[in-house]
Amino acid sequence: MRIILVGAPGSGKGTQATRISEKYNLPHISTGDIFRENMKNKTPLGLKVKELMDSGSFCPDDLTIEIVKERLSQEDCKNGYLLDGFPRNLVQAIALNEFSKPEKVINIDVDFNKIEKRITGRRTCEKCGSSFHVNDIGTTSVCPTCNGNLITRKDDMPETIKHRLSVYIEQTMPIIDFYDEHKILFNVDGNKGVEEVFANIVKVLG
Ligand code: AMP
Repeated sequence: MRIILVGAPGSGKGTQATRISEKYNLPHISTGDIFRENMKNKTPLGLKVKELMDSGSFCPDDLTIEIVKERLSQEDCKNGYLLDGFPRNLVQAIALNEFSKPEKVINIDVDFNKIEKRITGRRTCEKCGSSFHVNDIGTTSVCPTCNGNLITRKDDMPETIKHRLSVYIEQTMPIIDFYDEHKILFNVDGNKGVEEVFANIVKVLG
């Protein structure tokens, strides 16, 4: 299965992606995670994209497309993959169609007025990358999964969220129409709890 997960920042994409990838045994490819890993390790790529990422802007298309193309050519993707955070605009969606046509696109649809709360309460582990909400874990700064240090990502700061949302509306929402026209779009209500959202995704994926 070649699947794409689309959703605004804070729609719960990452949480659902982990579950889908486990259930269907698909490699979970998150471009955000790839960029963050490079930033953490201070690679040339990480240093190049740091400023853009911290401000909530997109990394360059050609760079991002090349990274995904290379990743999808690896052995573990030969029976499919789950893309999370890519494509994020029409240029990327058209490029992806040229090297690997997706079969299903799941759009996790969340009311915009809920998003700010979801993101400002998000804490991410510096070590394993898992994220949690303060509503679930309280004020602890210790990762429940690996004991690493929990932080608020720079791009999750309130002043950055508005910018990320407007970038999402302008650049990413058009790909939802694009995939709808290609008849491979499935909308899932992301305002529900994690379990219910997952159950609805499983219905779509079969
Ligand atoms: P995410 O974890 O998916 O929210 O991604 C975090 C950040 O990584 C984004 O705000 C962008 O700066 C960068 N990024 C991730 N995926 C892409 C993409 N497909 N195109 C451009 N930039 C991306």
